[in-house]
Amino acid sequence: MPEGDTIHRTAAALRRSLTGRALTRVDLPRLPAPWPGVGATIDRVEARGKHLLVATSDGLTIHTHQRMTGSWHLYRPRERWRKSPRAARVILGVPDVVAVCFASPIVEVLTDRDIARHPQLRLLGPDLCDPDADIDAATARMDRFCPPECTIGEVLLDQRVACGVGNVYRSEVAFLHGLDPATALRDVDQHTRRGLLTTATELLQDNLTGGERTTVSGQEPGSLWVYARRSEPCRRCSTPIERDHLGVQARVVYRCPTCQPPGA
Ligand SMILES: [Zn+2]
Repeated sequence: MPEGDTIHRTAAALRRSLTGRALTRVDLPRLPAPWPGVGATIDRVEARGKHLLVATSDGLTIHTHQRMTGSWHLYRPRERWRKSPRAARVILGVPDVVAVCFASPIVEVLTDRDIARHPQLRLLGPDLCDPDADIDAATARMDRFCPPECTIGEVLLDQRVACGVGNVYRSEVAFLHGLDPATALRDVDQHTRRGLLTTATELLQDNLTGGERTTVSGQEPGSLWVYARRSEPCRRCSTPIERDHLGVQARVVYRCPTCQPPGA
C-alpha cells in the first residue's frame, strides 16, 4: 500500500495539470451517476492521508483510494497508456492532459454532505504530510481509537490516529526509537508516542519531493534502516534484520532484534 507521501506527490502532479481547467472528458466506467459534467472546472486536488480527492465546480468530488493496486497517470491526449484501458476507473480530460486512475478499489463521487458523513474520511487523524499537522492532537487520538493492548506497530498504521504512515514508515520509525513494533500501546509513554509521530512527520515530509524514498540521510537514495532488509546487517549494530507479521491483517514489519529488543 502506498504511503502518504506517494499520494501527496500524486496530488501535486494532478494539481499542476488539472486545477482551474475545464473538463473536456469525464468517464467513470462502471460507476453510476452523478458524474462531474464536461465543462465543469476542477477546483481542487487534495490528498488526505492516502485518500485522493478531486473537487469540481459542480459541487462533486471524485474520491479514490489506491490500496495495493491503484495508480493515477498523466498523459498527453494521444499518448499510449502504460496500463490497459480496461483497468481505467477514472478518466478526466482537460485540453492538453488526460488523467487516468487505474485499478483503484475505491472510486466514488461524493457531495460535500457525503464527505462530512463519510465513514473513513470523517474520522481521519491529522495528516502528517501537512507541515501544520497537530502532533499533540494525533498523540491524544492513540488512546481514543486504540485499546491499550494494541501494538504500537498497529497504532502507527491506524489512519484515525494520524494519516500518512504506511508499512515502510512504521518499521523505520519504530527502529529510530529503538522500539519493538510489537510493544503494547500501554507500555509506550506519552513522550515516546509523541516522538514516534514527530519522526514519522519528518520522514514523510523529507520524502514529499526528490527521488527515491530515503530515511537514512547521507546514504545513497533509496536507503532505508530496516524495511525490506530481511537478513541484511543492521546499519547500527550489524545484527541481521528480522521480518515479522503484526496485527489482524498480519502486515509485514521489519526490526533489528538487538536495537529493538522486546520489552525495552
Ligand atoms: Zn541493530
